[in-house]
Amino acid sequence: MEEMRKDVPRHLALFALVLLVTGGSVHSPKTLSVVTTLPDLRSITEEIGGDRVDVISIATGYQNPHFVDPKPSHILKLSRADMFVTVGLDLTLGWVPPLLTSSRNARIQPGAAGYVDTSIGVPLLQIPSSVSRERGDIHIFGNPHYWLDPVQGHRIAQNIHDALVRLQPEDQDYFTANLQSFNLRLDTKISEWKAKMLPFQGTTIIAYHNQWPYFEAAFGLEIAEFLEPRPGIPPTPSQLAKVIRLMQQEEINVIIISPYYKPDAAELVARNVNGKVVIMASSVDAFPEVKTYFDLFDYNVNLMIEALDSSSP
Ligand SMILES: [Zn+2]
Repeated sequence: MEEMRKDVPRHLALFALVLLVTGGSVHSPKTLSVVTTLPDLRSITEEIGGDRVDVISIATGYQNPHFVDPKPSHILKLSRADMFVTVGLDLTLGWVPPLLTSSRNARIQPGAAGYVDTSIGVPLLQIPSSVSRERGDIHIFGNPHYWLDPVQGHRIAQNIHDALVRLQPEDQDYFTANLQSFNLRLDTKISEWKAKMLPFQGTTIIAYHNQWPYFEAAFGLEIAEFLEPRPGIPPTPSQLAKVIRLMQQEEINVIIISPYYKPDAAELVARNVNGKVVIMASSVDAFPEVKTYFDLFDYNVNLMIEALDSSSP
């Protein structure tokens, strides 16, 4: 009896110490509230953050990420968020800055600990030597569609990991283990996707918008022309005539577009050259079966193989 009574205060002291060290979160780990611009970033944040994050994406996967009309509920969510994750560059320049201002949340403003630009460290393609917005250029810092190269998934994940550790250092081991597991799985899948695409190395295709240079580089395709005469400018009759001529001369059969572009122009061109229109998943959630960053490439690689297989002579 004497023994036990002496032990009680020692247990209490230990418990108090644990509370002090962990900030009181002995039993339930703290959950960070995260808002991302795109579902692709949501998927990767979920991979790294696991059960320590609660993530929503503002844009849906079938919406044009250049032009998003956020809802009041998004501003409310942002006003309470611990972390904001964005593609950066100029992809969302039209809608993210006013949204962040409206949130009045100092923790997620550019430069704050909770602001994450996932383009940091990404080797950008197509950095222009001169630009003019008047000519319709909507990508003035280099092409921002880098998440469509799965290798850049590593860089995105690293940036998200570093921010999570910055905001919640007590969970560093957990976040780092998740990052390592994600990187391993991604590398395995990248090998698988590249092996599947190997027979189609050097195949020339057409795209609606200039959003596939990273996908093209990752999988050895060549995009010869776009239906848009300049990025962000809708297809014109003269541009479509140019594409039709090119497809006939070079025997190009496939036009890839995103779910948020009207398929009319692509279908018109395809009819003229007996080609086909392929609606790719340009983001996670573009289609119901594309739920994760891994699904994105499973879907696109399989779709591409099917299209190129059946269009080859
Ligand atoms: Zn774009």
